Amino acid sequence: MNEVKSPKKPLVYYYTIVLILLLVFNFVAMPWISEHQIKEVDYNTFIDMVDKGEVSAVEIQEQNNRILFKGDEKSGKIYKTAMVSDDDLVSRLLKAGVSTTGEEIEQTSALVSILGWLLPIIIFVALGQYMSRKMMDKMGGGNSMMFNMGRSNARIYVKSAEGIKFSDVAGEDEAKENLSEIVDYLHDPGKYKEIGASMPKGILLVGPPGTGKTMLAKAVAGEADVPFFSMSGSEFVEMFVGMGASKVRDLFKQAKEKAPCIVFIDEIDAIGKKRDGQLGGNDEREQTLNQLLTEMDGFESNNGVIILAATNRPESLDPALTRPGRFDRRVPVELPDLKGREEILKVHARKIKISEDVDFGKIARMASGASGAELANIVNEAALRAVRDGRRFATQADLEESIEVVIAGYEKKNAIMTDHEKHIVAYHEIGHALVAAKQTNSAPVQKITIVPRTSGALGYTMQVEEGNHYLMSKEEIENKIATFTGGRAAEEVAFGSVTTGASNDIEQATKLARAMITRYGMSEDFDMVAMETVTNQYLGGDTSLACSAETQAQIDRQVIALVKKQHDKAVKILTDNRKKLDELAKFLYEKETITGEEFMKILNK
Ligand code: ADP
Ligand code: ZN
Repeated sequence: MNEVKSPKKPLVYYYTIVLILLLVFNFVAMPWISEHQIKEVDYNTFIDMVDKGEVSAVEIQEQNNRILFKGDEKSGKIYKTAMVSDDDLVSRLLKAGVSTTGEEIEQTSALVSILGWLLPIIIFVALGQYMSRKMMDKMGGGNSMMFNMGRSNARIYVKSAEGIKFSDVAGEDEAKENLSEIVDYLHDPGKYKEIGASMPKGILLVGPPGTGKTMLAKAVAGEADVPFFSMSGSEFVEMFVGMGASKVRDLFKQAKEKAPCIVFIDEIDAIGKKRDGQLGGNDEREQTLNQLLTEMDGFESNNGVIILAATNRPESLDPALTRPGRFDRRVPVELPDLKGREEILKVHARKIKISEDVDFGKIARMASGASGAELANIVNEAALRAVRDGRRFATQADLEESIEVVIAGYEKKNAIMTDHEKHIVAYHEIGHALVAAKQTNSAPVQKITIVPRTSGALGYTMQVEEGNHYLMSKEEIENKIATFTGGRAAEEVAFGSVTTGASNDIEQATKLARAMITRYGMSEDFDMVAMETVTNQYLGGDTSLACSAETQAQIDRQVIALVKKQHDKAVKILTDNRKKLDELAKFLYEKETITGEEFMKILNK
């Protein structure tokens, strides 16, 4: 989001202002007010008034060299006059029956004393109101606590406020093609009405986080030049109980007034989860979802309001949401491939100063598996590095280092790794690479470093991009498992002992082996029967078993046998190539970094 927020000021700031206001009030305004309440007259007038009995009280201020006096009781008006040496004054006052003692005249000015009390209170109340309003805004309660409780705080981005166009979204050509129909419709709904075609009311953008779903939705609004309402699913249910439904109602009311327009609901799974009817379910969420369904059914399909929603767990959505007439179109937004990554890098590099000889293709290859958001982050990190080093533009080296920073964390400059540990890490990493290289006869890695990272990784291996391929043979998966076990195998071969460093490898190898058996039908006994289903495709790929306990035990045994076989294979490869293993590990230990080319040169020597 590109909303500009004014920086938050600490509470102390406000209190200081109040304090200063109070001081100014007390020392400047109060005396000024009281001075101007008092009318100045000359001494003769004073004497006249005393004689006529128009004076009710007198205060002689010898220090200030003046006399304050009050007119008759009714008006209560205060006067002042300069002090003149007048021996008769006291007797005159006595004769007129004017009191010269007691009350201090100045203090009796009602207005001044009331103001003195009220003003600070008013200031405090006003400040309190202001603060609580700020709080409410932040929490999403609308403008004023009492009256706008159920207003949605969908933000309106009118027209080109954001100015995001399809050209800002790199890659994702299929998604853009799909959505350009919507843009065309918003430009000229009549064309579609004439022929009787109706647009889908809702379109679901599904894909992993950071792939540009929000951007695409904004780009649709930007291209069609229509208002963009956006709200996150969790915002509907976060704040007040019972408010979710009315927020939905309000959002759609606003949208219909502004049609044609785009309504974007981010993280729709927060409200659209399957209603499972369990006891103690989330009533609030269900009401909100019901309201959303009602609203979607309520408007006829050609009224120009298009709802886009994003999620990275489409399988968890309630079927009622995805049935025809609601979110019936689904646009996949996948992680970018090599070409997509290169384009995304270029789009973001336009925003920074960058040297001309940067090879974006190489960076894209190195950053395999990165999402659009990560790539944007890599470019920004490179610019930051350039500033840190006092350069005026970012270079290839900056970009390469930032990939590692974004993916593996910063280098730990003074990490304490003992000499022995460093040896082990070097052998471990070379073990992976050597097993991989011997199986495929090609360079398996771009680069290995054994500088510890803040993410906790002791070393970092940058794999070679495997190119776009969509199928994997059984042998390839087996080789991959062998490669995962290669790190641990190298420790065994070289040191005869094992460490905790292989825990992530073990996890990955097990996952692959399990998938071979339960999902890919690559075991002898189970033929083509699915033992497991993937429940969470875009977020880590969780699975759930669907077989008897007996079969489960059998699967476990097979997984173990499979991994063990590959582990043994890795140990054999490394034992057979013990000399190369030592040589490569020594190189890595000394240099701390080895590139793919250096690796292959030593291996093929
Ligand atoms: P999502 O909504 O899918 O989680 P966003 O749309 O919020 O992802 O993307 C986050 C950021 O990542 C964007 O602001 C943009 O800088 C960058 N980004 C992601 N995908 C792309 C892309 N295809 N082209 C350009 N930038 C992208
Ligand atoms: Zn490892």
